[in-house]
Amino acid sequence: MTERHLNYIAGEWQPAFSGATFEDRNPADERDLIGLFPDSDAADVAAAVAGVSAAWPAWAAQSPEVRADVLFKTADIMARRADEIASELTREEGKTLTEARNEARRIAANFRLYAGEALRLNGETYPSESGQLVLSVRQPVGVVAVVTPWNFPLSMAARKLGPALAAGNGVVFKPSEITPLMGQRLVEVLLEAGLPPKLVALVQGKGAKVGQAITAQPGVDALTFTGSYTVGKQIAASLSTDTRVQLEMGGKNATVVLADASIDKAVATIERGAFGLTGQACTGTSRVLVARPLYAELVARLEKSAASIKVGPGTAEGVQMGPLATRAQYDKVLAYVGIAREEGGRVVGGDALREADSSLAHGYFVRPAVVSDLPDDSRLWREEIFGPVVAIRPIDSLDEAIRLADDTEYGLAVSLVTGDLPSVLRFARETQHGIVKVNSPTTGVSLNAPFGGLKHSSNQAAKEQGGANVMDFYSRIKSIYLGA
Ligand code: NAD
Repeated sequence: MTERHLNYIAGEWQPAFSGATFEDRNPADERDLIGLFPDSDAADVAAAVAGVSAAWPAWAAQSPEVRADVLFKTADIMARRADEIASELTREEGKTLTEARNEARRIAANFRLYAGEALRLNGETYPSESGQLVLSVRQPVGVVAVVTPWNFPLSMAARKLGPALAAGNGVVFKPSEITPLMGQRLVEVLLEAGLPPKLVALVQGKGAKVGQAITAQPGVDALTFTGSYTVGKQIAASLSTDTRVQLEMGGKNATVVLADASIDKAVATIERGAFGLTGQACTGTSRVLVARPLYAELVARLEKSAASIKVGPGTAEGVQMGPLATRAQYDKVLAYVGIAREEGGRVVGGDALREADSSLAHGYFVRPAVVSDLPDDSRLWREEIFGPVVAIRPIDSLDEAIRLADDTEYGLAVSLVTGDLPSVLRFARETQHGIVKVNSPTTGVSLNAPFGGLKHSSNQAAKEQGGANVMDFYSRIKSIYLGA
């Protein structure tokens, strides 16, 4: 029987007021219906915001130990349930079981980090005129809306819900319609850990409807969004000026291979960055800029690698790359492979395995693609593909490497393969990317380090995930002057 899932609003599991639902299907086998989820609209959003508005002041008034304790318990439950939730993640999003377990097991560490932040929400004191004590205190913002993408449905949500709740806020959470079950699981775990029932609302919905209703709904004090630049821009344009907004968006990330690099290291770095997670990471490697003497060999080695990767359902033994997450992703990746061919590029891989292999006929499977010899004005150098397609071109100097790596509207992650320290230092200082990695893939980040891009990759409201300023977005500073 088809499982019918619910929203969680004002402490009650309930269907959308309209009764509408949408389907959640397995991208490795679209015949597998995971369940039906509420297709909410503005009425559900209004009820969710009203419920959370009423609940957060009591949570904010709790001692920080109480808030930390709930988040520590959330971490414990996540750790215990990680493998079970990882299987559902593979079924819902498509990533391999190994990738899903890596994501799910890390969520416990995320919540522990934010539990600690609840206890460290410090203010400052300032030198002042005699007889006065001037100090700053941090207070919650109020109702925080959390809007997340599907590619890391646990991780992206945990690193917003965790700090928001740690700071004493309430949350209206709208997960991606591609991964609604993962959103539901996170809320269930928070409730099991003892979160006050009305403090969090879960509002599921397909398309832009729920997100747009959130931006139009009075009473939302802050909105933290991770997703595409196109949607981020729409959100920024539609919010009222007194709503705080954090936008973390796309990337067009490059790996630069300098002339002294080991080819083996370069291949391992690029394979992981470009083809891991089926290329569906915001920090995924989409471009490679390689010193001309290494170009031919690197292209040949990457072509071989793309041809040998085992593609299939994420649950199957030995599979290294799962399907794309949706039919739209599948069509988009194949369209870019077509564009590369039309533009005269040399394309190896990029086959539509759904059509080519009958055992994969019901999923969104493609072979990873390596594209070389593209013209300089190719769309593949500029547009975010968000799939396992990597374009390679030769470079003749460090100057050219920096110029081309930065020749994009995005500025999320860049990596450099070299042992040449002066080049590393100059590159790291000059490049317009928020994350610079040396001798490691553009993907993969420390959960306690600041995360976020530059240019179109972020609105720079405050760095996400970790670091000294991670709580800035989720708290307001008030200055208090104490006179005798
Ligand atoms: P998306 O922008 O299509 O959707 C993101 C979320 O916004 C979803 O929950 C969606 O339902 C909602 N939404 C859609 N239209 C909306 C609207 N008009 N108003 C408000 N909300 C709306 O992105 P996606 O396809 O889910 O994710 C892929 C994108 O996310 C890629 O561009 C990727 O680079 C980016 N991403 C960025 C990071 C990062 O940390 N910078 C991390 C992961 C993914």
